[in-house]
Order: sequence, then structure tokens, then C-alpha cells
Amino acid sequence: MGLKITPIPAFRDNYIWLLHDSGHAVVVDPGDAIPVIAALALRHLTLDAILITHHHADHTDGVSELLSTYPATVYAPARGKYKFHHQAVGEGDTIVLDHLHSRLQVIETPGHTHDHVVYYGANCLFCGDTLFGCGCGRLFEGSSQELYHSLQRLAKLPPQTQVFCAHEYTRHNIEFARKLDPDNAALLRRELEVNTTLAQQRPSLPSTIALELATNPFLRCTSPAIRVALPGDNPETIFGVMRELRNSF
Ligand SMILES: [Zn+2]
Repeated sequence: MGLKITPIPAFRDNYIWLLHDSGHAVVVDPGDAIPVIAALALRHLTLDAILITHHHADHTDGVSELLSTYPATVYAPARGKYKFHHQAVGEGDTIVLDHLHSRLQVIETPGHTHDHVVYYGANCLFCGDTLFGCGCGRLFEGSSQELYHSLQRLAKLPPQTQVFCAHEYTRHNIEFARKLDPDNAALLRRELEVNTTLAQQRPSLPSTIALELATNPFLRCTSPAIRVALPGDNPETIFGVMRELRNSF
């Protein structure tokens, strides 16, 4: 069969990622149970596990209802507080998904929230609200330095890694990026591709680490264009200024 990964759209712009193989499934960040139950029923899947990246309600509110229907194991960040029964995970932990023949590594990525973790394995990165298509998460709890270092760790993953973000923010992020990096040909190409994809009502994700390195301004704070566009004498400061500007864009 082989591992399949599909987005379950939820709310206005969330994606709940569904991983499945041979009748067994795992979901990432189920903020709403109803579309997940429908997606599982449609494909005749049993839910084995739920992965949580951080505590925000739009990533967790469906968990209790799913647990009342499926005997799934929930993995959630050790640094967060969760009202449902779960296995706490942190830096260096490995989650073995037997039926999916996959192992995922836990990487702590504080910044968007203190507890945020991402899951990496099988050439896939489930990065919640840390890294977005051509952008990154807002700073709700952490400092811009923390988020900068979290993103730098993700930037070092293999370039072919597929990046599964939790929101469809790519188009707006590209508009912002184009203001800072207008002569970037890869970014212009991505803009055209994303516009076509979204017009066909398909998700702009997954992207890849290689594509993010080439186009995402938050990973390009050392590039000449960004250094000219924004004040600051080191990449961390430039990143902080960029994150601040993006809040009001
Ligand atoms: Zn969030």
C-alpha cells in the first residue's frame, strides 16, 4: 500500500494532516473532530494515533471527541498542559507508528508557543504553526530569537523533506515576501504556481525545505536582498524586524 498523506480542511484555513496505510491512520492537530471522523469513515480507517504540535485550540479541540470514538494514543508536547490523556513528548523522542511503518522524531521548536514541537520522519515534516509556506508563525509566547533558532534547525533538515504546515497562509506570505525580495526568481515562480494551485482549489502544501530555503524570507535573513531591505546588523535582528512587519501586513 504505502504511506498516503492527505489534508483534511478545517475551520477557515487549517489543515489537519491525515496519514494512512493499509486501513490505519494517524492525524496531526485535529482542532475539529467532525471532518476527521468523516474522512476516516470515508476511507474505512482506524485511528491509531493523534499527534499534537502545540496547545492552541484550533489544533487540539477535536481530541476528546476523537478519543471517545477511537482508542488512539495521543502524543503531545511535554512542556504544554493538556486536559486529555496523552503521552508527553519532547526533544529527542521517537514515535513509532507500527501500522504506518514509520518513525517520527520529535524536535522542540519554541517561539509560536513555549510548548511547540514538530514531528520529522519518512521524509516528512509536520511543523504545526512554526514554519508556514513562505512564512512562519506569530510570536504568541516565545521571543523572536527563540523562533529564529527553531526555524534554523528546520532549515538544516534534508532539502527534499516535505513540509506539511497547519494553515493555508502561503499566498499572503508570498505577497509579503515579494515586497522584501522582489528580484527573487524562485519566489516569483512560486507565486505563479501557488496562484494556479489555489485557483484549482488545491492546497499549496506540502512544500519542501529546498523551496522554503529559496523563497521564504524568514529563512533568508542572510541573503543580500533581505539585508538591503531591512535594518539590523545580524540575521537574528533582521528576523525580529521582519516578524514584526509581517504582523501588520
Ligand atoms: Zn497556533
